[in-house]
Amino acid sequence: MLIVQKYGGTSVGGLDRIENVANRVAKTKFKGNDVVVVVSAMSGETNKLIGYAEHFSKDPSKREMDILLSSGERVTASLLAIALQEMGVGAIAMTGRQAGIQTDSKHTYARIESINTDAMRTELNKGNIIIIAGFQGINKEGSVTTLGRGGSDLSAVAIAGALDADVCEIYSDVDGVYTTDPRIEPRAKKLDFISYEEMLELSSLGAKVLQNRSVELAKKMAVKIIAKSSFNENEGTTISEEHEEMEEVLVSGIAMDKNQARVSLREVSDRPGVAAEIFTKLADAQVNVDMIIQNASTDGTTNLGFTVPQSELGSAKGVIKAFDHDIGSVDFDENICKVSVVGVGMKSHSGVASAAFTALAKASINIEMISTSEIKVSMVVDEKFGELAVRVLHEAYQLDE
Ligand code: ASP
Ligand code: MG
Repeated sequence: MLIVQKYGGTSVGGLDRIENVANRVAKTKFKGNDVVVVVSAMSGETNKLIGYAEHFSKDPSKREMDILLSSGERVTASLLAIALQEMGVGAIAMTGRQAGIQTDSKHTYARIESINTDAMRTELNKGNIIIIAGFQGINKEGSVTTLGRGGSDLSAVAIAGALDADVCEIYSDVDGVYTTDPRIEPRAKKLDFISYEEMLELSSLGAKVLQNRSVELAKKMAVKIIAKSSFNENEGTTISEEHEEMEEVLVSGIAMDKNQARVSLREVSDRPGVAAEIFTKLADAQVNVDMIIQNASTDGTTNLGFTVPQSELGSAKGVIKAFDHDIGSVDFDENICKVSVVGVGMKSHSGVASAAFTALAKASINIEMISTSEIKVSMVVDEKFGELAVRVLHEAYQLDE
């Protein structure tokens, strides 16, 4: 098999931990596999480098930041290769450029455009383990670029896709993906399988095992991911295309997003085109609108409510101001929280939404907004009831069993 393994910051967060990773990598190789390893910087290192730059400038040049930040991953890659060589195992470290990773020029948030696998293939054919510095590539001008925070996951998935690897194992300090955040519900269970789509919903809603862009790419390239811990031998969670077995499970997980705010517009003129104008202007201002609710109109006006990320509320306010003549009154509320029930099983089962509403009603939690998709039911509740809602729903779908 050809296996890509990615080790996150905590997994390589000290010399003893790099030694532990070297042992695990060597073991995988001795089993007869070809192994490509992608590493993060040691935990805290990227933030430390950012701090250094901020000592000199409030707004350091992004091109220079990329040279600086890419160095963290190079430290780990080279140390891991040295550790393996010392064990008598053939290993070679590569920067993003040496691994053939070509990106666009958007410094500190670059996109991978292509990967030339020639150099990696040559080393694999020699029997070497390849250790690649994650989170980085090179643009057409030859400048180093980085892929955005958490970007080593993206490097690993892209490399696995380009090499047509059998699996991409993502190692961190958690055992895998859980039915919900174990800090909120200690009875949360680790999932054996989850589909890309469910993972995207759960991670955008707070389950931070994998960087979101990497899951999108894995889905696009059909790269099978296994998320597991580098500190034990537990099985982990497989993230792949959905299959029948997954559909038998009604609900896979419950996610919570506290980072939402609600905009309520009252007495909006009820003429064709108002909604179009408001939401076009919001989109132009890069505001990501999520849930939208419009009431039936009375007396020629209607009420319109929607949610936006808290960080985009300022921009939303600016846009809404321009519609003064069309809107009676406006209200902004940051004390809300979005709780979502996620599962591909919903595609083929009914009653999932009503079970959620019933469970929250029983706990006297008022639902303020609702939206559904094929695999998700999301509800907005008062922020102070968010964690209770998660526990109530976790219990209602018997996720602890
Ligand atoms: N070191 C980078 C970060 O902290 C990339 C990564 O760890 O994936 O964001
Ligand atoms: Mg990470």
